[in-house]
Amino acid sequence: MNRANTNGATTTGVDASLPLEQAVLILERIRDGFFAVDREWCITYVNPGGARLLQSSPQELTGRNLWDAFPQAVGTEFDAQYHRALADQVPVAFEAYYEPLGAWFEVHAYPSPEGLSVYFQDVSERKRGEAERERLAAEAHEYAVRLRAIIDSMADAVFVVDTQGRITLANDANEAVLGLGKHELQQAASELPAQLAMRRTDGTPITSDEMPIKEALAGKVVGPSDIIIYNRSRQRDTYMRFAVSPIRDSGGQVIGAVTTGRDVTESVEIDRMKDQFIAVAAHELKTPVTVMKGYAQVLLRMRTDAPGKWRKMLEAIDRGADRMDRIINDLLNASQLQTGRLPLSMGEVSLEPFVAEAIQRAASAAPRHRIRLIHAEPLVVCGDPRWLAQVLASLIDNAIKYSPEGGDIDLAIRKEDGEAVVSVRDYGVGIPRERQAGIFQRFYRAHTGTPYDYGGLGIGLYLSHEIIRQHHGRMWFESAEGQGSTFFFSLPLAS
Ligand code: ADP
Repeated sequence: MNRANTNGATTTGVDASLPLEQAVLILERIRDGFFAVDREWCITYVNPGGARLLQSSPQELTGRNLWDAFPQAVGTEFDAQYHRALADQVPVAFEAYYEPLGAWFEVHAYPSPEGLSVYFQDVSERKRGEAERERLAAEAHEYAVRLRAIIDSMADAVFVVDTQGRITLANDANEAVLGLGKHELQQAASELPAQLAMRRTDGTPITSDEMPIKEALAGKVVGPSDIIIYNRSRQRDTYMRFAVSPIRDSGGQVIGAVTTGRDVTESVEIDRMKDQFIAVAAHELKTPVTVMKGYAQVLLRMRTDAPGKWRKMLEAIDRGADRMDRIINDLLNASQLQTGRLPLSMGEVSLEPFVAEAIQRAASAAPRHRIRLIHAEPLVVCGDPRWLAQVLASLIDNAIKYSPEGGDIDLAIRKEDGEAVVSVRDYGVGIPRERQAGIFQRFYRAHTGTPYDYGGLGIGLYLSHEIIRQHHGRMWFESAEGQGSTFFFSLPLAS
């Protein structure tokens, strides 16, 4: 102790068995700060590391009164802690910010009857890191609270699953929309099909393996699909439109999936009423149209001597009745499709003669067009000839209708990727890009409000698309405004 004092440094906190020179040598070398004061607060020793941290030098500090050297420390945490250590003779440890140096210090002060030894480090960087982490955590918390408030205020049901398919988050709307209690929303999503009696719109049950969540967890965005559920709290079936998307982390790895579900029961019911009305109206029209057509034909056959003017009138009635009959059939077929599948009676269809016949039938009513089969591979498909003939007639009719100046209509039959692909190409008005998206939807008409609106109900392509889909084929098109359109459909080959 005495030796220490003669050297100006106290040995408190230093291993007393260490030779003093060695201890001082260590203090001289370390980057951490160390200083000692006597009971009158006179600085008796400061190591170079400490002097540097205090932005001074040992020569400048040694011998000075601590509070004179650092007047701004008076009244601070440093002041309070050092006084306490010395008065109570207890070691103290604290972290404090020293304003004049703009630095945070971690301080350990050890008292002895002779004074105080202070060991300190600059921890500004760690403190800044901690402050930044706290700020980020607070920000993240605030963000999470806000996000939660947003999804809880949504009318749609939203729930999130982790990669194991466990529900990790569900908003309030789930309770009303799906009729599930909070505890039922803290389970595996695979329980939902059974719990909600999930069915497709045709009534077939959906198993947990068929849930779109599986596809989303494999990285696929699953577009809106309509599903019927039984809502237990409302005690009735509910039509839901679900969409599921994968959730990815910043590295692109799928870490879960989010499902949104909207109750679309009301619009489905309105649609159903509309369909019912269309079906009833079409049925009611069918009989009078058949009568009109029948009598027009009887008159044409009976009165072969009728004057030319009369014959023309009767033929016009006959053609008009035919057109009405086609529209009525389209409406009836479309409403039948809404309620289920088409009655298909499948057989083998050799495409080349089949397409040639469709061309011949259409050509007689289109004298200004040249309808050709420009390429035909000898392919046989499996299908219902009655419905396939309707698809071809629809596509050729459209090609004629939307190339009012006349011109070529080119059909082709090709084998592509093990399937038969039939194409119908026209060089007419085409379809503007921004109007192409809904082309296969029921009642969609791409040229409404343009000079190229040539009438029609917007049913033909919807029906054709569905007919091909039920044949396990696909329908698509390419079109450019002013240059024409090509409609394609594929069909599986007969084995
Ligand atoms: P529509 O009876 O109105 O023709 P469709 O379902 O057959 O009904 O066709 C839907 C819409 O698609 C049409 O209204 C038309 O705008 C567009 N369309 C169909 N075929 C063609 C074509 N070959 N060229 C340009 N537009 C077409």
